[in-house]
Amino acid sequence: MTKSAVTVIAIDGPAASGKGTLARQIARHYDYAYLDTGSLYRATGLAVLAAGGDPNDDEAALAAAQALDAAHIDEGAIRTREAGDAASIVAVKPAVRAAILDFQRDFAASPPGGKKGAVLDGRDIGTVVCPDATVKLFVTASPEIRAHRRWLELNKSGVEVSEAQILEDVRERDRRDAERAVSPMRPASDAHLLDTSNLSIEAAFDMAVAIIDKAMS
Ligand code: C5P
Repeated sequence: MTKSAVTVIAIDGPAASGKGTLARQIARHYDYAYLDTGSLYRATGLAVLAAGGDPNDDEAALAAAQALDAAHIDEGAIRTREAGDAASIVAVKPAVRAAILDFQRDFAASPPGGKKGAVLDGRDIGTVVCPDATVKLFVTASPEIRAHRRWLELNKSGVEVSEAQILEDVRERDRRDAERAVSPMRPASDAHLLDTSNLSIEAAFDMAVAIIDKAMS
């Protein structure tokens, strides 16, 4: 048997596509463990910044990835624009990705809490981290819609930034994630595409569950 007994749901897609919200809801629905792989890159980028380093520095980025303690990530601190930006800079580096790869694969192979399945969201879950995943979703939305969603979120938490600036960030991050040589963001050939541009969170969830149920039946 080549596929493991653990059900793995891979959810990839660009920043602010809604994949994180969707992945959390899906994990709850099926009672599977959930891993936000972006948080690993964010924590790595943030650790470099916190130590006064430059995320472009190969050695500093690798040292931060190797020292990463996934169980103690400061969820509040990693959600800033700066951490997201630093994440996409360290994520370009092959050595950083290799350091983070084992943790992700172990999580998928043996989900914590004895769960029967795992949901991982990121950019390269279906293509590189878990190419044998049971079901793969690639969640997208137009850059304008994603920027608007991110802007609403930031606005609500009191961060003053223009929507145009967020759109620029989104485009820059898309470019960096899709054009890097190692594990670029792209849908796996067997991924189901889910465009959430004109969907509510509830409608996107219903569509995702329908896809997953069909794939698992
Ligand atoms: O999804 P999130 O915005 O938190 O991810 C932050 C950054 O981490 C992404 O822009 C991307 O550069 C990187 N990342 C990655 N591979 C993943 C998850 C995230 O390269 N599997």
